[in-house]
Amino acid sequence: MALLDVENLEISIRFGHELLPVVRGVSFSVDENETLGIVGESGCGKSLTALAIMGLLEGSGVRVTGGRMRFGGRDLLAMSADERRHIMGNDMAMIFQEPMTSLNPVYRVGDQIIEALQQHRNLSRRAARRRAIELLDLVRIPEPDSRVDSFPHQLSGGQRQRVMIAMALSCDPKLLIADEPTTALDVTVQKEVLDLMLDLQKRTGTAIILISHDLGVIAETCNSVAVMYWGRLVETAPTDALFETLAHPYTRGLLHSIPAIDRDVDWLDAIPGRVPTIGEQIAGCPFHPRCPRAESRCRHEVPQPREIAPGHLVECHFPYGGDR
Ligand code: SF4
Ligand code: MG
Repeated sequence: MALLDVENLEISIRFGHELLPVVRGVSFSVDENETLGIVGESGCGKSLTALAIMGLLEGSGVRVTGGRMRFGGRDLLAMSADERRHIMGNDMAMIFQEPMTSLNPVYRVGDQIIEALQQHRNLSRRAARRRAIELLDLVRIPEPDSRVDSFPHQLSGGQRQRVMIAMALSCDPKLLIADEPTTALDVTVQKEVLDLMLDLQKRTGTAIILISHDLGVIAETCNSVAVMYWGRLVETAPTDALFETLAHPYTRGLLHSIPAIDRDVDWLDAIPGRVPTIGEQIAGCPFHPRCPRAESRCRHEVPQPREIAPGHLVECHFPYGGDR
């Protein structure tokens, strides 16, 4: 049984009297020890999917309008708000792109970790402080004994993101969702933070969902990849299989943004056009206005997911590597 199983998830946003779907029938699962990358351009529904799993959409005018999500076999959508909060505090944690907006600038970082620890565990303040220092050490903050008393602005961007990871780990989550955790960091620091996450995963077995617009980051970090376009998963596969075939034209377009990978594929120059907006009506395949392989069938018929190899699903009438 997968740790997290998302089936046909639909999320909609309210516009006046209308509910417009923004995530449309998304299915994937994540196991212990696994890192799943969700990749796509901004506005494709990656962050909303993450927030839905965390139960953080409530009250935002955006809500889950269909599908199922099971965590450890339990139906997340059927739970009471209390049960959900308990899971969020104990079994799932999330880190965001910009730690400065998640860390409170007027509190010392140690106090913020201590507060997170005391919310989840019955620890004395002294024990919580000791644990906070251990966590800072675990995420490789230098001199954690004194850094524990720093304010967020006294730390570098990379260190602040490490503090966020320490806070996320304070509850020993079974699932860690990282939404563009390294996008605001420069490339070397980015790599350090990703390596740190993977290293912690090796020790704890935590499942990770890594959300990024950068297929390169996903390629280096994840066991499997889900490519999202306009609220749908257009290609899902184990990482090796995905890069082997690059079956969906959109996946190929995304790959173009990774300059360093040396592969013999016929590159798209860039993905022309733009992501359709919410509420826009597009007949057939939603990618057809931008797709170099589009044929008339693509303009009329929505492609359904099909399995082109074990565990490799593609929503396209004419995937690369398939019959034409
Ligand atoms: Fe392109 Fe057609 Fe495949 Fe859509 S279904 S991605 S338009 S080839
Ligand atoms: Mg986002």
